Amino acid sequence: MTLTRTLFAVGEVVPESGWYLCVPCGFADEFMAGDAFPVCKACLAGTSDGPDGYTEPHVEYWERLT
Ligand SMILES: [Zn+2]
Repeated sequence: MTLTRTLFAVGEVVPESGWYLCVPCGFADEFMAGDAFPVCKACLAGTSDGPDGYTEPHVEYWERLT
């Protein structure tokens, strides 16, 4: 069994193909299993230009939509 996780950081491997929500801005996109999570193109979370509280590169903010 794997630990149940719902939040992922930029650069982590997408565990399951499907839709993911950017928690700070609400943008949703579809990612494929095996790819790396990208920086949110809507709010740039995970970069120095991201929203308050989401400017660190390893912050977890992609949430699996089920
Ligand atoms: Zn975003």
